Amino acid sequence: MAQELAGASGEWFRRGTAVLPGGVNSPVRAFRGVGGCPRFFVRGRGAHLVDVDGREYVDYMMSWGPLILGHAHPAVVEAVERAVRDGSSFGAATPQEVTLAETIVAAVPSFEMVRLVCSGTEAGMAVLRVARGFTGRDRIIKFDGCYHGHADSLLVAAGSGVATFGLPDSPGVPEAVAALTLSLPYGDLQAVEEALAQDDVAAVIVEPVAGNMGVVDPPREFLAGLRELCCHYGALLVFDEVMTGFRVAYGGAQSLVGIAPDLTMMGKVIGGGFPLAAYGGRADIMRQVAPAGPIYQAGTLSGNPVAVAAGQATLDVLRETGPYPALETASARLADGLARVAREAGVPLTINRRGAMLTAFFAPGPVTDYASAKSSDTARFASFFHAMLERGCYLSPSQFEAWFPSTAHTEALVDQTIAAAGDALRACAADDWPRPTQET
Ligand code: PMP
Repeated sequence: MAQELAGASGEWFRRGTAVLPGGVNSPVRAFRGVGGCPRFFVRGRGAHLVDVDGREYVDYMMSWGPLILGHAHPAVVEAVERAVRDGSSFGAATPQEVTLAETIVAAVPSFEMVRLVCSGTEAGMAVLRVARGFTGRDRIIKFDGCYHGHADSLLVAAGSGVATFGLPDSPGVPEAVAALTLSLPYGDLQAVEEALAQDDVAAVIVEPVAGNMGVVDPPREFLAGLRELCCHYGALLVFDEVMTGFRVAYGGAQSLVGIAPDLTMMGKVIGGGFPLAAYGGRADIMRQVAPAGPIYQAGTLSGNPVAVAAGQATLDVLRETGPYPALETASARLADGLARVAREAGVPLTINRRGAMLTAFFAPGPVTDYASAKSSDTARFASFFHAMLERGCYLSPSQFEAWFPSTAHTEALVDQTIAAAGDALRACAADDWPRPTQET
């Protein structure tokens, strides 16, 4: 691989690989799903990223979803600068964290109380403990291809990076822990009912729109069915809205379907690009969390004032400007344009979209669950990814992730991207879907 590493990114990757596992701090960043050398970045502004070689890209990864307002939005930058001047962390209560909790409670009706944490993974770990502590039960139901962070109990048939690498699970997850998690096909209510009938399930956890096998909307009635079954069998329903929260709508996916889960995980957008996430829901459950109740969960940097300032500024802009119709229009334009240029190039491409998150699967489709998502031609995706990189568009470096348009993605940028995609698809098809090299 060493001879592939040209340019400053190549040099940083070489140095990084010596001191960081795989040269990165999170697996999919290393480009193993697409080949070639990962880019190292120095700057983000609006919809654009600039790498260490000075190349500019239209960014559709947007830090994997948090940056719904684009990179370095002035309101977020100003709020963060103001906050950090007053001290970066107190490890004590602040008015600002109360205000952010009030903002979240006002936005999402199923949230009666909230606990702020630092990552989606931490929120996932916590909701499982709370669900188990509250119900006195141990088993968890999740769905194939859904990713809820890398906690032991949740790394079972997980999507995201685990899907990218085709790992069934991870070494280091004790069998005894994994045995408490049952992963079922996304959308299969009958399988859920059979499992719940054992009366030992603490929680059913689900991405209400899946984003980690690529974007997949659940079948009609799936979420309502889960709500009904959980009520009937005494399990808690947990929506993981880390990706969808404040993205597909201000009130999250649950506001679109009108279903109230018992607990919800949030992350990404609520931190405005900073390490901030949350879990919350029914007050009778959340009052069991320490110190109000006996279920322990804590964090040195939880409710960190700088992260809270970024999150509050982001939610304030979203509430005050209501960008969702415009995001919908831009995302629909992008999806329709991608479908059109794929048709013209004779490439089977299935576009799944919910609001400002979409995936272009290299598969004839329909893509409705993990099994159909995995039928995608990942080698073609890799060729396309590099062809887009060459044309100045940075996509998430895996077939099983989403594109995240932001308010900074103007109509002109979207049209430029569609044209680049058409050109990239034609070039890939003409060249028999080349394997990526560093130079592409
Ligand atoms: N849940 C979902 C739905 C996610 O998409 C992610 C991250 N992609 C997580 C949980 C984990 O969040 P984090 O990476 O902040 O730990």
